[in-house]
Amino acid sequence: EAFNTAVAEAAELNAFIVTTPDHALAAADAVDAKRARGEALGAMGGVPIGMKDLFATRGVQTSAASHILEGFKPEYESTVSQNLWDAGAGMLGKLNLDQFAMGSSNETSYFGNVVSPWRKAGGANTDMSPGGSSGGSSSAVAARIAPAATGTDTGGSIRQPAAFTGICGIKPTYGRCSRWGVVAFASSLDQAGPMARSVEDCAIMLEAMAGFDPKDATSLDMPVPDWEAALSADLKGKKIGIPKEYRMDGTDEEILKSWEQGKEWLRDAGAEIVDVSLPHTKYALPAYYIVAPAEASSNLARYDGVRYGLRDLPDGAGLQDMYAATRAAGFGDEVKRRILIGTYVLSAGFYDAYYTQAQKIRTLVAQDFANAFGQCDAILAPTTPTASFPLNSLNEDPLTMYLNDVFAVPASLAGLPAMSVPAMLNSDGLPLGLQVVGKPFDEQGVLDVGLAIQ
Ligand code: GLN
Repeated sequence: EAFNTAVAEAAELNAFIVTTPDHALAAADAVDAKRARGEALGAMGGVPIGMKDLFATRGVQTSAASHILEGFKPEYESTVSQNLWDAGAGMLGKLNLDQFAMGSSNETSYFGNVVSPWRKAGGANTDMSPGGSSGGSSSAVAARIAPAATGTDTGGSIRQPAAFTGICGIKPTYGRCSRWGVVAFASSLDQAGPMARSVEDCAIMLEAMAGFDPKDATSLDMPVPDWEAALSADLKGKKIGIPKEYRMDGTDEEILKSWEQGKEWLRDAGAEIVDVSLPHTKYALPAYYIVAPAEASSNLARYDGVRYGLRDLPDGAGLQDMYAATRAAGFGDEVKRRILIGTYVLSAGFYDAYYTQAQKIRTLVAQDFANAFGQCDAILAPTTPTASFPLNSLNEDPLTMYLNDVFAVPASLAGLPAMSVPAMLNSDGLPLGLQVVGKPFDEQGVLDVGLAIQ
């Protein structure tokens, strides 16, 4: 009954693409059986989670919210989802997202917009964006339909939706979570992570998700610490860096106020606040919007009408016609835009002018962080330059939409662990998030600072 109520509520938010109640119930039954046998239940024993529909799930549609993968049921399970099932979790269903994880508002899904459960706070009957691309995840967790959900973050897609909906979400160090069986967007940036209501829940779930995987060549061969057991909000002796370049024109006053408040909380927790500089910050967003589409244009070449999902084969058509017809029908506008940008910046005449330059900037951004971490243990910044915005307000304006990622992409380019934690509500009653960025492999430091803010 509770499940049906939740499903009805979820239907209103359009958070799920498919529901899988049997999967969640089987995990609950497994917990009962283990309890009867006196066995350990597993760190996620019986917890019914939502799975972003970018993770391959055996026998369950894995669409990446696209038409081209509609109906695709993988023969295999992603490593991250398998790790969660091994820890005892069950799946409520596959969550909606921006198509192929490209977007910041969950308006590019083939299966329709996701609505934030905070929709009424934006004004009378205004449907607000839950953020993107993990908008089904943020919406379902914020609405208390699922206690936790998986997300993926290429350039902010865990942190920005978490900030927009008042929940927590952490992108670990690049390589912590296996990318095997995760539909690829930009492989050098893609990372999975948990989205949940508390820092503690994120720590538990990340522990279950993470771990070395020989099937992913970029997987980190490092032990997964017991982050949850070591959690501590005591920041005595810790230095928290405030990057001056994140005070940008166009940043909402209330966001700046929440940043000030965050510094106070961290001082109260015993930390010392220090100024740091990340001088190449303003180049990070343009570099991201070259690197990410470049990798996407290569990754998405596999959707050709032969190997997966949709095939559009007009009468009398040849192979090239089939490719063209399938892709024209199967990809949404934003995905096509990324493929066009990506193939352009990789083309022979423009490669050095765009792609090589962007890669150089990426190195400089990573060096900025390395220098700053000579003076501090973690960095505190806003997650986003604005609170959530109404659906259908920015979707005709891709550049403004891209600007929403301005504070999120630097940590992505540098592969660093970064978390968004709810800070406060603005004067419209909408949540604002604060972002904590840590040194490579220092998820613990990030979670601890998050705990002090929470
Ligand atoms: N919003 C960013 C983009 O559209 C980031 C997406 C993501 O992290 N998957 O590329």
